Amino acid sequence: MNAAWHVKHPMPPKATTEQRIKWHIAHAKHCSCRPIPPKLKAEINAFYKISKKK
Ligand SMILES: [Zn+2]
Repeated sequence: MNAAWHVKHPMPPKATTEQRIKWHIAHAKHCSCRPIPPKLKAEINAFYKISKKK
């Protein structure tokens, strides 16, 4: 576990979906203490579909 990364990057208490997505993507790059939950992966797919349409 990359404890130093976690100290520098706490999850905001009232994180929006976008914040959680960005947190998990950054987290996956720097640490692998827990995988991205399947539910969030679906949210990530939906999020990027929406942002591509813009
Ligand atoms: Zn971690």
